[in-house]
Amino acid sequence: MIFESGSEPVIEVGLLLAEKIEVCLHGNYSNKEKTFTNNIEITISDKGLVVDGNFYFEPDGLNLKPENDATFTVKDVVFGIGFHWERLEDLTFKGELGFKIEDRKIRLINRVTLEDYLKSVISSEMSATASNALLKAHAVMSRSWLIAQLIQKHKPDTHIADASNEIIRWYDREDHSGFDVCADDHCQRYQGITRITNEKALKAIEETRGLVLKFKDEICDARFSKCCGGITERFDTCWEEENPPYLQPVFDGTGTDTRNYYDEAGAKAFILKDMDAFCNTSDTKILDQVLNDYDRETPAFFRWKEEMTALEIKRLLKKKIGIEIGDILDLIPLDRGASGRIFRLKIVGSENEITIGKELEIRKALSESHLLSSAFVVDKITDETRGSTLFKLHGAGWGHGVGLCQIGAAVMGEKGYSFEEILNHYFKQTSLEKIY
Ligand SMILES: [Zn+2]
Ligand SMILES: [Zn+2]
Repeated sequence: MIFESGSEPVIEVGLLLAEKIEVCLHGNYSNKEKTFTNNIEITISDKGLVVDGNFYFEPDGLNLKPENDATFTVKDVVFGIGFHWERLEDLTFKGELGFKIEDRKIRLINRVTLEDYLKSVISSEMSATASNALLKAHAVMSRSWLIAQLIQKHKPDTHIADASNEIIRWYDREDHSGFDVCADDHCQRYQGITRITNEKALKAIEETRGLVLKFKDEICDARFSKCCGGITERFDTCWEEENPPYLQPVFDGTGTDTRNYYDEAGAKAFILKDMDAFCNTSDTKILDQVLNDYDRETPAFFRWKEEMTALEIKRLLKKKIGIEIGDILDLIPLDRGASGRIFRLKIVGSENEITIGKELEIRKALSESHLLSSAFVVDKITDETRGSTLFKLHGAGWGHGVGLCQIGAAVMGEKGYSFEEILNHYFKQTSLEKIY
């Protein structure tokens, strides 16, 4: 990221890594030596990058700048890697185009201004029916999160603490080398200008240009997830052992809720009971503001159920995290965060037992893709005659639950709250500041 105080940052998005890349240029793209137009094909030789059969060498790879409003289309970009909705799409981008050699493959890079990047990210995450308050809150949050991530670029990302009977891992956004962000959900889903038809999102971004959330002098690492389930979660339930003051648990509704969700009785009372929270909605008009079509394949999220046999869990544990502890006898939550999300789960097997965490590791271990959240209580039903065991999970929320709750924020926007009020609700002790 090129970031000088007072001016708009330019960020590098890593789009693809392949042995051969085809790009269709709409308009002229040029470097010092040559102007390219129409289709170009980039491959690799021992000497370096080969464009349409001609060898090119620049220390930083090949960098092409657009003339006027030129854009480019890339074929077969993969989205949702590892998720149930993984798919390939042809996508169109604006800004500069770069090719770098990485692991004997070609990395395609798009250099784009931060505001253009945000326009793409926010319009592909939300529909045109979203309220202006929701779109503006999202714009400020995404801008803050992104700049905070790129300034921080330091933290250890993936943690693996394997004791003999305990696997505690967490996965934060890993820093990329050679570029700032990737185009998939690992960073934020970025589809170029392909889906920028959302005039309301564009207006919200323009209206909040350069505006970020700050806690004291620090730009906030403003996290968000789909649905908190009624209470937002603590940072350290999901990631490292720190708790930024602006990411404290909040009751996602009017008033306060001081019940205890940390112990089993409290979690059970919370998860099994419907409650009056902003994100407890089945209003499809509001859900459409936050969920894309493919996300709507998951209908129940505020409270949900999942069933699995002991045999299935045994198979999943082996496949997903490579552990074998015999037949699965029990799932015992050991530690929960503020929203009931489990961050240490003991799994008792006939040969051994193991404790796993944090929240994402638990969600991965107990599902072919991911459980909606780790806020669940377990009902164990044993069939003595058949000798089989069924585990019924009753769960709450969708995602890690830290920071802004997207569905809750959409409801707040519909109820007439301003974007400042939405941000202040989820991010305590913060202020807004225009930094360019
Ligand atoms: Zn990434
Ligand atoms: Zn919520």
